[in-house]
Amino acid sequence: MPDSDEDHFLRGLFANNRAWAKQIEADSPGFFDKLAKQQAPRVLWIGCSDSRVPANEIIGMLPGEVFVHRNVANQVMLVDFNCLAVLQFAVEALRVRHVVVCGHYGCGGVKASLKNHELGLLDNWLHGINALGRRYEEAIVAQPNKSSQVDALCEINVIEQVRNVCKTSIVQQAWRRGQEFTIHGWIYGIHDGLLHDLGVSVSEAKDVEATLAAALAAPRLAHR
Ligand code: ZN
Repeated sequence: MPDSDEDHFLRGLFANNRAWAKQIEADSPGFFDKLAKQQAPRVLWIGCSDSRVPANEIIGMLPGEVFVHRNVANQVMLVDFNCLAVLQFAVEALRVRHVVVCGHYGCGGVKASLKNHELGLLDNWLHGINALGRRYEEAIVAQPNKSSQVDALCEINVIEQVRNVCKTSIVQQAWRRGQEFTIHGWIYGIHDGLLHDLGVSVSEAKDVEATLAAALAAPRLAHR
């Protein structure tokens, strides 16, 4: 029976994997043996599921260096046990030094939240971003065209998800215990492969509101 294209494709993935593992081991003998014993990532990455924004690759990190949670439109919801469990493990067990919420321009989830057609379950997932779109409507419609409007909401969404991370009892309690770590909001340009810092890094509960308010008042978009 002739192989289908899909069988061929899947076999290729395993071949790629063997070549990749061989190369890593050649570059750094004992790499996997060492990693199997422990992971000590300094960064928790909360990003979008979009296939064009692979966490490790775009910041040049190897396996073991980034703890990753991704979902559609990089959201942090206070009722999402999946995301909260990742955050709790990263902060309390791994004791990461940085929690990065990373969005990206042209995000399909953000774009969809601005439209009125029905997407089923995804509408529920995007409800929070839709609400942000209404809350910040003035800043969004001030943008010159549709794609800038989407990008403005992409930035606002990152900043508001940073706020959500800061609001969790996980982060609040860790800061009260004196644990040192910083929450950041970054955005990635799919069109040029470059990351930008949205200037919302916070390391203490008392700085959250002032830092986020300043960033929301001066959107990065103007400098793109
Ligand atoms: Zn996205």
